[in-house]
Amino acid sequence: HACKSTHGNFLPNLVASLEQVEQTYIMVKPDGVQRGLVGEIISRFERKGFKLTGLKLFQCPKELAEEHYKDLRAKPFYPKLIDYITSGPVVSMAWEGVGVVASARKLIGSTDPLQAETGTIRGDLAVQTGRNVVHGSDSPENGRRETALWFKEVELCQWTPAQASWLRE
Ligand code: ADP
Repeated sequence: HACKSTHGNFLPNLVASLEQVEQTYIMVKPDGVQRGLVGEIISRFERKGFKLTGLKLFQCPKELAEEHYKDLRAKPFYPKLIDYITSGPVVSMAWEGVGVVASARKLIGSTDPLQAETGTIRGDLAVQTGRNVVHGSDSPENGRRETALWFKEVELCQWTPAQASWLRE
C-alpha cells in the first residue's frame, strides 16, 4: 500500500519488465502430420495468443533426432523414439511470449495421452505415449537450446503482431 501511494505506477511497470519473454520449440511429430492435424495444432497456439517466429515442414535426420532426445538415450524406448521422429516429416515451430514454455506444456497435456486432460492436444487427439502427436520444450533453457538446434538464425522472424496491444496491457 505504501509503495503504491509513494511510487504510483512504478511498481507494476517494474514487475512487467521483469517478466521474461521466452522461446519454446514446438513440433508436430510425424503421426500428427500423417493424420492431418497440423492446422489443428498450430491453431491452438495461435488462438492462445503466442507469437510464431519460425515454421517449417522438415524431414528430421537421425543425428538431429539423437541430439534433440540425448537426455533420453538410456531409456528402453529410445531406439523406437528415434525411429518414430524420423519416420516422416515433422512441422517445426518456434513460439515466443511471456510464460510460453509452461503454457505450451499445458496446451499439449501429459506425455501419456490417456492421462492427458480433455481440452489438451494430446488429451483430445491421441491415445498412446509412443504416438503423442506433438513435442514442447520443458524449460526456458531447453526452449532456447531446441529452437537453436532446429532452426537457423535466418529462419526465425522478429515481428510485431498487429494484435499485440489487444493481448497484453
Ligand atoms: P514429453 O514429450 O511429454 O516432454 P518425455 O520428455 O518424457 O515427454 O519423452 C519424450 C518423448 O518420448 C515422449 O513425448 C514420447 O514420444 C516418448 N516416450 C516417452 N516415454 C515413452 C514410453 N514409455 N514409451 C514410448 N515412448 C515414450
